Amino acid sequence: MQSLENKILLEGQVLSDEILKVDSFLNHQVDPFLMREIGEEFARRFKDEAITKVLTIESSGIAPATMAALQLGVPLVFARKKKSLTMADQYYKAEVFSFTKRETTLIAVGKPFLNADDHVLIIDDFLANGQAAEGLIDVVQQAGAHVVGIGIVIEKAFQDGGTRLRQSGFRVESLARIASLQDGAISFVKKEKV
Ligand code: 5GP
Repeated sequence: MQSLENKILLEGQVLSDEILKVDSFLNHQVDPFLMREIGEEFARRFKDEAITKVLTIESSGIAPATMAALQLGVPLVFARKKKSLTMADQYYKAEVFSFTKRETTLIAVGKPFLNADDHVLIIDDFLANGQAAEGLIDVVQQAGAHVVGIGIVIEKAFQDGGTRLRQSGFRVESLARIASLQDGAISFVKKEKV
């Protein structure tokens, strides 16, 4: 998505060879116009899939996922990050190792919000090693529901999450795919000509 790539080039800060900071439009301040475009693009890519729910993880997935859910006309559910769970049997839960925080957190979704007949689109802000997406897939599968695909705003294609998820048979649609952050320079995966 060209407008997203432009925004990343203009406002993204390379913190290391592995971490990109985009606090000015996605992870702290949110650009609602760009989020609307992102939601429209996810909806366009997944429009034939009879999606019944969008699922993300708090907090930075919520803005793009809400816009996608609005375009698709379905509810958004966000997994909550918990330190511990009281009444644990009322939640589907999974452990997720955070790439940026270097710690394991519990994610939880209340059982009433995912059902066996749901067709779920998972959305997240970043894809790195795929732990967040795999935790969300786990939660959907515990509910007996179907994962239609995974929509990612920014995939760091030099980390292995995308490859692993695609090899497992999941459809992964990333709106920007970063090939490298080396030496402070952002480069994108070249698009195939069709
Ligand atoms: P994964 O679980 O795929 O390893 O990492 C994805 C999660 O880690 C995302 O939900 C995102 O919050 C965070 N993350 C991973 N890499 C980056 C990054 O380069 N920049 C930012 N801002 N967040 C990241």
